[in-house]
Amino acid sequence: MLRVMTDVAPAAASPAPAHEHSRTGLSADALRRGIVDHLRYSIGRPAAALRPEHYYRALALAVRDRMQNNRVASTQTSLDLGRKVTCYLSAEFLMGPQLGANLLNLQIESAARAALAELGQDLDQVLACEEEPGLGNGGLGRLAACYLDSLATLERPAIGYGIRYEFGIFDQEIHDGWQVEKTDNWLDNGNPWEIAKPDVSYLVNWGGYAEHYTDDAGHDRVRWVPGRVLKGVAYDTPIQGYGVKTCNVLTLWSARAVKSFALDAFNTGDYYKAVEDEVNSETVTKVLYPNDEPEVGKRLRLLQQYFFVSCSLQHVLHIMDDLADVSVHELPERFALQLNDTHPSIGVAELMRLLVDERQLGWDEAWDITVATFGYTNHTLLPEALETWPLAMFGESLPRHLEIIYEINRRFLDEVAEKFPGDPDRLRRMSLIGEDNGKSVRMAHLATVGSHAVNGVAALHSELLKSSVLKDFYEMWPERFSNKTNGVTPRRFLALANPGLRELLDDTIGEGWLSDPVRLRGLESFVDDPAFGDRWRAVKRANKARLAEYILASAGVDLNPDWLFDIQVKRIHEYKRQHLNVLHIATLYHRLKQNPGLEIPPRAFIFGGKAAPGYFLAKRIIKLINAVGETVNNDPDVNRFLKVAFVPNFNVQNAHLIYPAADLSEQISTAGKEASGTGNMKFMMNGALTIGTLDGANVEMRTEAGAENFFLFGLTVDEVEEIKRGGYRPSDYTDAELATVLDLIASGAFSHGDTEVFRPLADNLRHDDPFLVLADYQSYVACQDRVSVAWQDIPAWTRMSIRNTARSGKFSSDRAITEYCDDIWGVGPVTV
Ligand SMILES: *Cc1c(COP(=O)(O)O)cnc(C)c1O
Repeated sequence: MLRVMTDVAPAAASPAPAHEHSRTGLSADALRRGIVDHLRYSIGRPAAALRPEHYYRALALAVRDRMQNNRVASTQTSLDLGRKVTCYLSAEFLMGPQLGANLLNLQIESAARAALAELGQDLDQVLACEEEPGLGNGGLGRLAACYLDSLATLERPAIGYGIRYEFGIFDQEIHDGWQVEKTDNWLDNGNPWEIAKPDVSYLVNWGGYAEHYTDDAGHDRVRWVPGRVLKGVAYDTPIQGYGVKTCNVLTLWSARAVKSFALDAFNTGDYYKAVEDEVNSETVTKVLYPNDEPEVGKRLRLLQQYFFVSCSLQHVLHIMDDLADVSVHELPERFALQLNDTHPSIGVAELMRLLVDERQLGWDEAWDITVATFGYTNHTLLPEALETWPLAMFGESLPRHLEIIYEINRRFLDEVAEKFPGDPDRLRRMSLIGEDNGKSVRMAHLATVGSHAVNGVAALHSELLKSSVLKDFYEMWPERFSNKTNGVTPRRFLALANPGLRELLDDTIGEGWLSDPVRLRGLESFVDDPAFGDRWRAVKRANKARLAEYILASAGVDLNPDWLFDIQVKRIHEYKRQHLNVLHIATLYHRLKQNPGLEIPPRAFIFGGKAAPGYFLAKRIIKLINAVGETVNNDPDVNRFLKVAFVPNFNVQNAHLIYPAADLSEQISTAGKEASGTGNMKFMMNGALTIGTLDGANVEMRTEAGAENFFLFGLTVDEVEEIKRGGYRPSDYTDAELATVLDLIASGAFSHGDTEVFRPLADNLRHDDPFLVLADYQSYVACQDRVSVAWQDIPAWTRMSIRNTARSGKFSSDRAITEYCDDIWGVGPVTV
């Protein structure tokens, strides 16, 4: 194939009239020329050897050229105007496939399709070649990605800072019903979106000790003598806004060995030691930690957090230094630093270190700058998910930061004591250093003390923060607290994921909804239009057929698109209660077996989600879903009415197929446990009805949609607390039907008679369940029965579905980002 050397990629041999530049032009012709150039100069393969993945790469590079052009203009404009920039610090960015989203935001989808067609390629086939960067666990990382999309679309200057994990979240396979984890090799074929910037690089210390000395002017100073030094190198990915010139950037840091340190080893002849150190340094950004694992003070995770935060803050200060006539005192006027959960909260101590030790500012002025610059978003109320680090390990790793934290704490507790005299218990509760089961550093406290703004992610969650985990801090500084209900980008989760609905919306209410999702309200005038209802249902039917095809190929289960599609996709966790959903399926199974004449509206139960590799019960829940599925799907008595499918490896790519295909969205967490949820919003935008508890953003979704368009069940937060206060006795909630269903599971009815495999789950539910599954069972099953009745009234269901989409505008990340910009960051739009 390679033998004919003249047989090269179709190149600039036939130059088209170059009205538009091949790197920046947005026409199909300019784009085709750009692709052809990249095939020749960046891919460098003979035409006969070109496969769709090469066209993917060439198109991606051509698209990146266009974004880079906007990127340079965006940076220049905000520098010229001296405008404030948001820095979103997040250990996770779950970006999903980039090509489709970038074509959409540049508004060149049809140009790209035409350009590829001229080259004999199909855009959809080329899009399918993309490997998604799985640099996040779930909702938190995906939220960060949605926020980057909205920041750019709203023309707000912003930098996302994170970690360039070489291996993202593991790929999930299902073997014999069990989850099996496989390494995610997302970089194997390269990443056309990133630009390595070896010159944007910073040194990061680790370990060693803090040395106190007196400088020439007689001031007490501290320098950190590290045990180890590594280097962070920036990789930049452009983030294009929709329908605007603004193009921001995501900067991800990758760890490298510091070569000069290895030289010592060379001098002593220990070549292998030098190589080994290099390998060790580079493991720092090797792999993303799955969350929901029991926290065991993983030193490497602390190093990852410190590493990316230190690089990011050094970068910000470096930008400040490059600005003429701007001193570091103006940091809060130039940059807003947002902490996405506590993962980057070491930044509070690191900024103090950079200002006090390295820039020699006084403590008080450094502290004022720090607090004015940082904001903190809390994402969880689960006590086991609140980050703490064992004090000894923290001190060995970051000796200077521990000193700084002690000093912050000393001054802070003085302030508390002044405001609340004679309350030692309060001091103990609020301290940055925890004393229960071994001393530890409490990162949520550090983040709260070091930020001028603290927010929760849904109205209910923000209220609970103020009355529970951060109550003392709320009493101290009520003005710091606010709510910023999460949102999701309608570009990706509506337009890109649901092209059928996009076309119907464009036809019906015009294209304005893409940049102003509140305009979805315009659908209200078509709710009673039967012709519109028919089109609405046709779109949903096609999405369900598309998902059914994917599920047949990936899970081997054949689903009928005319059935009710009942979907629960999200991380597998006890608090999200996938097992409550399974109890309902087992109940229907039992009813059908008991009563052969029974007819119920047919339903497909679809699940997806990863369990943390070390989370015993979550992995068993996956096995249970698959075991019930195998039994149900193969039993002719029930498979006329029920099917169960587990979609392997839930990720952003297959999420595009899943959310638009749902009739019913399962949002059934124990009230008070889900901070917000964002999957719930993606389903609602795509016209699914929700069955849910009064938890997280469900509460606001129900208010927006109207209670009559939402299936509510379950205990409220107050009721959950009351039950827990009195001591939860699951047997009090176990009626005859539930007892039978639990017995079925425990007795091996779904496990070929194996009575061991699900015993831990059944025991947990019957004796030891902090998430009150059995207490909500009756209410849930009764609500599901109402769903089945409602589903049979097709026109009424269609109206409810349309109303859900029409009223979903609030849950756009554009609304959320506007609130952050106005209330916390003070970052305004900059038109490029
Ligand atoms: C939206 C999303 C999530 C979050 O889902 P929740 O239902 O809010 O937990 C997790 N993973 C992926 C891939 C998502 O797109």
